[in-house]
Amino acid sequence: MKMIIGGKWVGKDETIDVLNPYDGSVVDTVPRGSAEDIDNAIAIAQKGYEINRDMPVHKRISILKRTAEIMQERYEDLAKTIATEGSKTIREARKEVGRAINTITISAEEARRINGETLPFDSAEGSENRVGYYYRFPIGIIGAITPFNDPLNLVAHKLGPAIAGGNSVVLKPATVTPLSALKLGECLLEAGLPGEILSIVTGYGHEIGDALVADPRIRMISFTGGVEAGERISKMAGLKKIGMELGSNSPVIVMDDCDLEQAVESCVSGAFWAVGQNCIGVQRIYIQKNVYDAFRDRFVERTKKYKTGFQLDEDTDMGPMITEGEAKRVIEWVEEAKNLGASVLTGGTRQGTLVQPTVMEKVPSQARLDCQEIFGPVVSLYPFDTLDEAIEKANGVEYGLHGAIFTKDLNNAFTAIKKMDVGGIMVNDSTDYRVDLMPFGGVKKSGLGREGIRYALQEMTEPKVVCFNL
Ligand code: NAP
Repeated sequence: MKMIIGGKWVGKDETIDVLNPYDGSVVDTVPRGSAEDIDNAIAIAQKGYEINRDMPVHKRISILKRTAEIMQERYEDLAKTIATEGSKTIREARKEVGRAINTITISAEEARRINGETLPFDSAEGSENRVGYYYRFPIGIIGAITPFNDPLNLVAHKLGPAIAGGNSVVLKPATVTPLSALKLGECLLEAGLPGEILSIVTGYGHEIGDALVADPRIRMISFTGGVEAGERISKMAGLKKIGMELGSNSPVIVMDDCDLEQAVESCVSGAFWAVGQNCIGVQRIYIQKNVYDAFRDRFVERTKKYKTGFQLDEDTDMGPMITEGEAKRVIEWVEEAKNLGASVLTGGTRQGTLVQPTVMEKVPSQARLDCQEIFGPVVSLYPFDTLDEAIEKANGVEYGLHGAIFTKDLNNAFTAIKKMDVGGIMVNDSTDYRVDLMPFGGVKKSGLGREGIRYALQEMTEPKVVCFNL
């Protein structure tokens, strides 16, 4: 596919191969964009910003609604694209398409709810004759950068609210999965989005990232990805707004009073969804001692039933990791934990990019598996005595995106809600639970700001105060 600059499809002599992670076959190519392409895209986006800012809201709404309809018509093609350039199975990919359509639809709905309020100017002495209000104004050009693991819906989470709020966008999708983003761009343009509002520039982050991030014409960087790139981007960005949706190593607490079957089912799915390449994937499970053995045995038994293989086969439960390098890294972390005294209960091996779903126990705190983000299909089980002890361990990391607790006791639930250091806490669901309208984001190294359309719209617009001196 070509890339999109100011709504136009642009090719280049130099291209990047997009590979199927299952067998390394070439799915398509995309242009290797340059800093100059970013510069052109930003120049056009300045005009695009004025166009969208001045566009009546009902028109933005109808473009977004029409986009959702076109996506619905292309449901299966979009799902196949996700499951061919990326790691997800076709069943997982279909769910992502459904969510992306929902994200764009909610963006259309929220466009009509970007409200301000009247202000009591006369509450300040000397301001008796003033009346006024504030309304929310688009921030300008938004630079958006997205990761590979939800290549369609996370792009929708940037483009939907950015357009709904009256901004223009220059998006750089992950180099390994650019096709889903370009296909969403195609839907938006066919739905009537004025071209100047949207650019999707393909190319390597380390080559074109700085040109996008550091440009003073960009008023906000909305980034989703890893901590390392996030920290670099924060330093490069200078004086502009920053939204950071970063990683985590999410903890789940299983109390002895919970429905164990429900907890096992939910945690297995939460650990191995998208091959564990999921920012809210279950990585650490703390289980109360008297149900530890029962939980572990059922969890391992359930995990062993997982069928790994080709993503497009309808009966595959878990596809390949995104690259062989990533698969090797995951096994390296497992080996490191083993050398430090951990046990592998099932899995721990790989063939090419296919990593078996892996369950570990006795993982010591100095192992990377315990304290860093694995971003792969590996989950560790830990026994505990008291809830306070479990919460302390759950909080003892640098991340804090989602946490979860399984319990039937309200007091346990509210203790966890109060004390767990996270951006969202699920009670009787694994950390992997998310719907697209909720405020989503983390604390500590997991990020800054919130997505979830209505909340992204707050970040992507600013209040403008209006005051009349009568
Ligand atoms: P990544 O390596 O950080 O890459 C993310 C994006 O940043 C890619 O488009 C990448 O481009 C770009 N990038 C890399 N270096 C850059 C630079 N110097 N300047 C500008 N852009 C740069 O992350 P990933 O491996 O794709 O995704 C996995 C990470 O994302 C995990 O840590 C996961 O937890 C996190 N994530 C967070 C959320 C959330 O909502 N909190 C959701 C999903 C994923 P290239 O592809 O060209 O390198």
